[in-house]
Amino acid sequence: MRTLNLTCDTCGLSLDIDYLPRVYVLAEGRHFPMLQRHIWCSTCNGVSVAEALDEDSSSRRVRLQMRDSNRRRLEGEEPIDEIMAKTLRWSIRESEDYERNLAEWKALRSRAQFCLQCGNEDVDVPELDCADLPHEPCGGTLECRMTVAGGTYRSAYEVFPHKYSIDGELIELGYRIGPW
Ligand SMILES: [Zn+2]
Ligand SMILES: [Zn+2]
Repeated sequence: MRTLNLTCDTCGLSLDIDYLPRVYVLAEGRHFPMLQRHIWCSTCNGVSVAEALDEDSSSRRVRLQMRDSNRRRLEGEEPIDEIMAKTLRWSIRESEDYERNLAEWKALRSRAQFCLQCGNEDVDVPELDCADLPHEPCGGTLECRMTVAGGTYRSAYEVFPHKYSIDGELIELGYRIGPW
């Protein structure tokens, strides 16, 4: 769960958006995290969600840097214990699996991007995860702030993501349980 704040620089509207993660269901029931983006949807006349068709450039950079540094530590001169080696190998594998799943999903995906709430395909999907959006009713800009990365109550809730088909059709609504 994550919390996003959008505040308009012109009319002052401030929205706190607390949202569940979304996943695609791939073959054999494997899950791949949806690269979801908040958008301004003219049809909904509000903030909605659409899919990005690729990993955002800054997340990708961080992911690859971490993988390179993990590989260097594994192969380096500096001795590391078995637990650390296991953790590094696990993290490298996770990153490689992520890329494989992304490639699999992209090869199968055919539908154009659309607003997940209303199906409108005339959407402008930002490249970055946290991007400013146009606030159409007042002509201003909704400035994006990730209030709390990871979500305010992340540890207090058990989170079950929304499940989608490869073409973005909702299969099962997610939910959360808690806080305990
Ligand atoms: Zn505004
Ligand atoms: Zn919409």
